[in-house]
Amino acid sequence: MITAPFEYRRAASVQEASRLLAGNNARVLAGGHSLLPAMKLGLAQPALLVDIGRIPDLRGIREENGKLVIGAMTTHYEIESSELLRRSSPLLPEVAARIGDLQVRNRGTIGGSLAHADPAADWPAAILALDAELELGSADGRRTVPASEFFLDLFQTAIRPGEILSAIRVGPTGPKVAYEKFAQKASGFALCGVAAVIEGAGVRVAVTGVAAKPYRAARVESALRGKVTPDAIGRAAEQAADGVEPLTDLHGSAEYRAHLARVLTRRALERARSA
Ligand code: FAD
Repeated sequence: MITAPFEYRRAASVQEASRLLAGNNARVLAGGHSLLPAMKLGLAQPALLVDIGRIPDLRGIREENGKLVIGAMTTHYEIESSELLRRSSPLLPEVAARIGDLQVRNRGTIGGSLAHADPAADWPAAILALDAELELGSADGRRTVPASEFFLDLFQTAIRPGEILSAIRVGPTGPKVAYEKFAQKASGFALCGVAAVIEGAGVRVAVTGVAAKPYRAARVESALRGKVTPDAIGRAAEQAADGVEPLTDLHGSAEYRAHLARVLTRRALERARSA
């Protein structure tokens, strides 16, 4: 299928990209792996694409003030193969390795995936379970949004018009992390994905693919506070879909998604505990 006609501009900085976006029916172009299919299907018809792929600040993984900073244009594959992340935040490479296939991982970016906010995307589970911060830049400056306030609804985030997601910031973790995913067979997207992080007496569990937006499984987390035993995990995981409205679509019913959330939460916690 052929897209509607559009103009293309390459931005040299976040500020320039932000100015180009203003009032132009314009969209940011990152890896293009969600946007271009949507344009080919006629679901998105921007008049202008603003390519942010050559803005140096948006790329790469570094340590800064005890945190790990991942530029929004960093590809899934760069995260999967990062030695720094394998040592300091092993959940991120594990999640990256489960996204699509090698071609998708070579082009798709963490920032593009988060900004797109597909309810079946993998990154949101990791970002919530790691309690990440998201840096947003524009011609007017910068602001930081916690992951817990970033995802608003189906394909909707806290990114305001003219803003660009520039980086994702996470604290380092130990090895007690795990991501369990049940993939939709044709696309590889998550019918359900659960990320678990165990740190000291605290547990964080986040679920993607089940509801319109990804969520922290708060009841599971509080049931396990201070007692992450196999029995407690089994009981707590039963609450993984409590308080949310699971989606029904041609890939799975709400009941099935809730069931997956419970099973994958138990598996992710068991694996994280024994890591
Ligand atoms: P783009 O497609 O370029 O952009 C996506 C949207 O975000 C656009 O609206 C764009 O304007 C906006 N945007 C992009 N970057 C920014 C930014 N920095 N700031 C503000 N707005 C921005 N994903 C999964 O999670 N799991 C899978 O298993 C999976 N399988 C896939 C299989 C196939 C065959 C394909 C084609 C895609 C798959 N994906 C999967 C999606 C893939 O991860 C995409 O790369 C990702 O969703 C979008 O990233 P992108 O860099 O390609 O963004």
